[in-house]
Amino acid sequence: MIPYGKQDINQQDIDAVIKVLQSDYLTQGPQVPLFEQTLIDHSGAEYAVACNSATSALHLACLVLELGVGDWLWTTPITFVASANCGLYCGAQVDFVDIDPITYNLCPKALKRKLIIAKAQNKLPKVVVPVHLCGQPCDMPAIHALSLEYDFKIIEDAAHAIGGEYQGKPIGCGDYSDITVFSFHPVKIVTTAEGGAALTNQQALADKMTLLRSHGITRDKALMRPVTGLDIEEQGDWYYQQVELGFNYRMTELQAALGVSQMQRLRQFVSERQRLASRYNQLLADLPLTLPKQLETTNSAWHLYVIGLQLDDSAFSQNRLSQNKVFRQLRELGIGVNLHYIPVHTQPYYQAMGFAVGDYPAAEHYYQHAISLPLFHGMTEAQQDEVVTALRLVLIKVY
Ligand SMILES: *Cc1c(COP(=O)(O)O)cnc(C)c1O
Repeated sequence: MIPYGKQDINQQDIDAVIKVLQSDYLTQGPQVPLFEQTLIDHSGAEYAVACNSATSALHLACLVLELGVGDWLWTTPITFVASANCGLYCGAQVDFVDIDPITYNLCPKALKRKLIIAKAQNKLPKVVVPVHLCGQPCDMPAIHALSLEYDFKIIEDAAHAIGGEYQGKPIGCGDYSDITVFSFHPVKIVTTAEGGAALTNQQALADKMTLLRSHGITRDKALMRPVTGLDIEEQGDWYYQQVELGFNYRMTELQAALGVSQMQRLRQFVSERQRLASRYNQLLADLPLTLPKQLETTNSAWHLYVIGLQLDDSAFSQNRLSQNKVFRQLRELGIGVNLHYIPVHTQPYYQAMGFAVGDYPAAEHYYQHAISLPLFHGMTEAQQDEVVTALRLVLIKVY
């Protein structure tokens, strides 16, 4: 089976991890700050806080933006559940903004319409989480302009998008948001096995995320609280304080060393994905498919290559091409297609909160037509040709 995505580990990656195993520190050593520095160097952000997953990083990001009970977080329905769940972790309520049918990202026009209504109802969001789906940047200048007008914070869920660019700058630079979150899960662009990071240009946010990443405990006297009857300056080197309720969201040294090594190949990873994506564009051009479109001012990191099936949606058509049939036949031919994503609002957990099928028509239409084709660094042209041949065969058969 040709997988839809997979990691690319070379000897240098393996050596980097083994070196850490033979060193003094498996956690809380020098590799995590080094990895954070590679993220800063790449993106131009001022601060990076590495975590054990992007899900943890999203949780910390929401907490330091002071999202809590009585607040709203808005995101897109076409994303992994983690983009929405982070709001629930903080006791906030979650709502969704429908997608743009061309880019499949959170639609700035729909956002504006929803903001106008929310303002009238006094239910404006505190945090909006745009997701750069497939690595394709959202229209961030438009979303950022709305954040100034309606006073909300922005967390970019860039789990798919390290190496992508907008307005000539790397995603993560923070020009249009408060915090950007990357994921380093093995299917993403670069990997640390499990891992994530939150990037920001605001020192107070970075300091607070660093504190909360490790139990809310500090050894920095400047961050300590006065304790009655105790002179903090007099305390020994063992002394630390818990000043917040934090978590253990730390990344290990093994993961960070893998990340440092992988980051050296980021450019190569993304340019190879770009090359394969434009090759797909050419090879699939004559098929009845909607191919991925990009905004002019952006460069996708090409985490995913999603095709839209042009289905005859009428139930009475004899040629009715079913997404499920295409999907199953491709898998039978050894093509590890996938579907990203089931709209979050239709998940049972979210339906129990009052969401229903029909709430976000553009997202649901996308979901009924989309299929993710295999795309990863290390995929050969022969493998890609195999995908295209299989797709051709299946589409002709069902038509
Ligand atoms: C993978 C992913 C996450 C979560 O990343 P983890 O590192 O697995 O926690 C969040 N959002 C999106 C859009 C993702 O694809």
